[in-house]
Amino acid sequence: MGLTREREGRRKRAQDAPRVLLAGNPNVGKSTVFNALTGLSRHTGNWTGKTVDCAEGVMRGSSLVLCDLPGCYSLDAGSPEEEIAREAIESPDHSAVVIVCDASAPVRSLNFALQTLSVTRNAIVCVNLIDEAAKRGIRVDGSALAGELGVPVVLTDASKGKGLDELKKAIIGTVENEKAEDRDFSPQTGPHWAEAERIAELAFTFDADTVSAKRLKLDRLLTGRFTGKAIMLLLLALSLFITLVGAQAPSSLLSRLSDRLLGSITRGLLCAGVSETLVSALCDGMLGTLFTVVSVMLPPMAIFFPLFTLLEDLGLLPRIAFGMDRGFARCGACGRSALTLCMGLGCNAAGVVGCRIIESPRERMIAILTNSLIPCNGRFPALAALITAFFTVGAGAFAGAVRAVIMAGAILLSIGAALGASKLLSVTLLRGESSSFVLELPPFRRPNIRRVIVRSMLDRTLFVLGRAVLAALPAGLVIWALRYTGVMGVIAGRLDPIGRALGLDGGVLVAYALGLPANELIMPLLLSIYGGGGGMASILAANGWGIKNAVCMLLMMLFHSPCATTLLTIKKETRSIKWCFIAFLIPVVTGVSLCALINLAFGAFGL
Ligand code: GDP
Repeated sequence: MGLTREREGRRKRAQDAPRVLLAGNPNVGKSTVFNALTGLSRHTGNWTGKTVDCAEGVMRGSSLVLCDLPGCYSLDAGSPEEEIAREAIESPDHSAVVIVCDASAPVRSLNFALQTLSVTRNAIVCVNLIDEAAKRGIRVDGSALAGELGVPVVLTDASKGKGLDELKKAIIGTVENEKAEDRDFSPQTGPHWAEAERIAELAFTFDADTVSAKRLKLDRLLTGRFTGKAIMLLLLALSLFITLVGAQAPSSLLSRLSDRLLGSITRGLLCAGVSETLVSALCDGMLGTLFTVVSVMLPPMAIFFPLFTLLEDLGLLPRIAFGMDRGFARCGACGRSALTLCMGLGCNAAGVVGCRIIESPRERMIAILTNSLIPCNGRFPALAALITAFFTVGAGAFAGAVRAVIMAGAILLSIGAALGASKLLSVTLLRGESSSFVLELPPFRRPNIRRVIVRSMLDRTLFVLGRAVLAALPAGLVIWALRYTGVMGVIAGRLDPIGRALGLDGGVLVAYALGLPANELIMPLLLSIYGGGGGMASILAANGWGIKNAVCMLLMMLFHSPCATTLLTIKKETRSIKWCFIAFLIPVVTGVSLCALINLAFGAFGL
């Protein structure tokens, strides 16, 4: 009782207290600053598609409430993160905004800072990661920056707590002297790249001599023309190898457990006198699909996502992208597309939003339209399961290595398709030459293992699984109803000739149509459509699947319609149905053509 009253009191005090917002690009250390100033341990996720929220806490030694906004690249209010950040910054409910910048990526950070300063002037600029910047020979002149921006500037190394006392004082000072916003200035949340570059040149100096020789050597190796690509392939194959080999045993265990559990639930319900139709709808339809989703997806995700997050946290992903930038520039696209494609590996909707780092509207459009050619993590588990079920050469670790190479080959094929589509677009609908650009390489970072696990498990594994589970229950019921009424047979039968021409069948096309809400649903839906138990490999084999079908399914898994979330994001980003339709057509036409060709080739060889 006393505790509840105390909590209520704290909440009431927090509601009345002045609020201070923490805003900035993703990964600049906002949460680290927030946690250090409040003594809390919170993380504001900004994985596209999930409900974005702000962490709140009272700043230690004060009555101010800090609010950690989701990270975003601009304030153009296209994505949920940006809408939340912009609304919060524009609202009169706060007393100050702390704009957190990355000292090692000054132009990108200043672009965001200038956008924010065009909306509010009660701000403090916190230039974080100065230790990382120093390692790269970047020095920041705080007073020159404060002079240019017209607001207090504090330099911090939040991970070691340096500069945070000063930041606290600056925040309190700004809140105490809170100015009534002078609304004479017109908010300009559009890009401020030129101004950002000018200020960066004035206030940031680069001293090549201080860059550690070790880091330079490592960077040269990782971004080298041949070594970079070789290391990229090796890392990719290694992550896939660990995923494919590691997921096999838990997948089949989960599948056996699900079969047993489903059997017990069915028997229990029937014994309790529940009608057979209801039991069938619940167990064969909803729960059956749900259990398939979990057993097919959970093991590869639980292994791959932490590995992927680790690569990201180490600062290796942008270096991998660096290896591909020249290729994209040659295809008339922006070299930065390589980076947005890497983001697409995580989530295509996130990749599409990430395209905002590309300045030229033409190149940005190309990057948006080609992002869905890269398999997102919703498709990874199904790709992994399919390759494990059908591509067996040798045994043990050797078989795992062969599968990893096939999977890496599939990803390279999708990169090739993105390059080809970029070239095609740049000589047809979006004609033009590639502009020059600078790819800012973030520093190498010692990964924070706790953060890697929390982020990969909460933001990725559970988010993707949760989305799939939520969609699986109604989709399972729809499939059951279609099967129960015999409509499924009719639809699949009608679509069968088209499916067969693509080396697949009508059932697969139905699964793709029903799986539009989320890519992760397609394979589990197909297994539910086919029906039966005993794991994926045996269900597919019982439906006559051979190597041709597996190859075609693999290609279709790589190249098909973007999921509903990605399509909506593309529509929002391009503000045009036409471009959204083109983004839909590009992977679909690629997938259909490749599958038809493979089917013809297998036919020609009598396979
Ligand atoms: P956010 O996405 O902006 O909230 O960024 P986080 O607070 O999650 O930080 C991103 C990564 O940078 C984490 O691994 C932090 O430990 C690390 N980090 C944050 N601030 C600093 C800093 O000043 N120096 C160094 N070296 N690392 C930092």
